[in-house]
Amino acid sequence: MKISLIAHDKKKEAIIQFATSYQHILSQHELFATGTTGKRISEATGLSVQRFQSGPHGGDQQIGAKIAEDQMDLVIFFRDPLTAQPHEPDISALMRLCDVYQIPLVTNLAGAEVMIRALQAGFFGWRELIQENKNKNE
Ligand code: PGA
Repeated sequence: MKISLIAHDKKKEAIIQFATSYQHILSQHELFATGTTGKRISEATGLSVQRFQSGPHGGDQQIGAKIAEDQMDLVIFFRDPLTAQPHEPDISALMRLCDVYQIPLVTNLAGAEVMIRALQAGFFGWRELIQENKNKNE
């Protein structure tokens, strides 16, 4: 599965702890992240992460583009709900595209914990089916 990881600044430590705790699961997947989040995660865990621009410089939009191209299966986004973000329109656009394309999105640690266990338990088989059917029809 292709998984995006994003964390606002005050949530960076939380996502690093999350990625460290679930490194054994995350390492089985293809990981993407906004710039600083990806750098911090790969430094802390050694996980291989494909990095986009930093969020305020277009990283959320780049992840949105992947979603529009059906190249993303899950978005784990540790949002800071208490701090205004200069790139709020980009964040809204990313979340909107998740809804448009039915891409699972979690926006906090509690949701991420449930989602990663669901991923490990094989609940994402439907995404593989969709991809298989798409490949057959091409
Ligand atoms: P960053 O971007 O990982 O580059 O900090 C995340 C964000 O603030 O949207």
